Amino acid sequence: MPTPLPRLLQSLENAARLAGRPSPRLLAVSKFQSATAVAELVAQWRRERPGEVTAMGENYVQEAMAKQAELADSGIEWHLIGHLQSNKAAQAARHFDWVQTVDRPKLLHALADARDPGAPPLNVLLQVDIDGEPGKHGARPEDVPALADEAASLPRLALRGLMAIPAPFPDMARRRDSFRRMRALFETLRERHPGCDTLSMGMSGDAELAIAEGATMVRIGTALFGPRTPR
Ligand SMILES: *Cc1c(COP(=O)(O)O)cnc(C)c1O
Repeated sequence: MPTPLPRLLQSLENAARLAGRPSPRLLAVSKFQSATAVAELVAQWRRERPGEVTAMGENYVQEAMAKQAELADSGIEWHLIGHLQSNKAAQAARHFDWVQTVDRPKLLHALADARDPGAPPLNVLLQVDIDGEPGKHGARPEDVPALADEAASLPRLALRGLMAIPAPFPDMARRRDSFRRMRALFETLRERHPGCDTLSMGMSGDAELAIAEGATMVRIGTALFGPRTPR
């Protein structure tokens, strides 16, 4: 079945061009989608954009591992974008290429300890609770510099930048403000860690706004796969 992928890629490019920015990377969010649906999307993605990295985001380690087993040797780059409990960190370090939800030192160390020394370093993004929401995961903005230094000191990790899920304010001006604060935090981070190249923000409902405000990676589920049915 064809997906809305070509139209989506075009709209991301248009948003970047309007903002005078490079096109962001697409992370296709495949939580609750079948391995078959993922394989179809990847095949279409490779036809549309030969040579582009096909990156999939998953929220749950177990669900991702089951899909990865079905899609072995598919060349997909796997990103963990769901909250990670420390007791799942070792599995995450072995089964993902990126972990976007690192928000505490303990998790950094658990990931680094479990990463196979023969594998490339695990790419990590620090998740930031940019709107200070009660009960929300993510590091406080003021804790980012120390966490970044710690991440950068661990040889089996590659610190690549920041990730956020801003509060879903219906008022787009408030959402824009959250994205702007993330961008400022990212620019500050880059002064000390110039290897950081990724600011992951924006989802199906606000990707264009996030791109206008500096996202280098957007995470899109619904707009690619349609509505999800949790299992
Ligand atoms: C599910 C999810 C997405 C994708 O959301 P859509 O609105 O379906 O595009 C992006 N980021 C995270 C962290 C998610 O959990």
